Amino acid sequence: MQNAILLIIYHDPEPLPFLAKEKEKENEAFFEFLQEADSVVLDQQVSALQAAATSAIDCRKCGNCCRSLMINVEESEAEVVAGRLEISRQVFDDQYLEKGVSGTMILNQIPCPFLHHNSCTIYSDRFSGCREFPALHVPDFQKRLFTTFQHYDRCPIIFTVLESLKKNLSFQHAAD
Ligand code: SF4
Ligand code: SF4
Repeated sequence: MQNAILLIIYHDPEPLPFLAKEKEKENEAFFEFLQEADSVVLDQQVSALQAAATSAIDCRKCGNCCRSLMINVEESEAEVVAGRLEISRQVFDDQYLEKGVSGTMILNQIPCPFLHHNSCTIYSDRFSGCREFPALHVPDFQKRLFTTFQHYDRCPIIFTVLESLKKNLSFQHAAD
């Protein structure tokens, strides 16, 4: 039988920057602790916590990733969204895309132009980067610690998973 996981839910994105500031030192220690953790156990825990957090947290009350991420756009995705908007590829490219550093195409605006009142207006055709974020279900969490912590102060799902992970892994931090 699997052990029950403990989930501490943070629904509201608003206080996260303040809470993150308060936990800055603790999180530096937690980052190091996670680097040393068993990666298989870590992936299992993070994946279970992400599933629970995603069911409990309503992204429509947040939308922070859509306000802050640089979104890559694949050729095929651009075709689909241009078709959905009933505009030509040329118009779509001119209006929404630019070349990223590695020659890939990226959306030319942050926040994302397809975000409207916290909802994605192209949801069923959103880009793969949007579908994956915050990517906590993807194996090798340990290799993505840096990027995960980068979004800790704005994504309630990441905040919930990391704070719950501290409890589930019995992480302790002695205050200075
Ligand atoms: S395409 Fe939709 S899900 Fe992706 S960043 Fe824009 S609004 Fe968010
Ligand atoms: S994935 Fe995170 S940052 Fe994006 S809308 Fe959901 S809770 Fe907010």
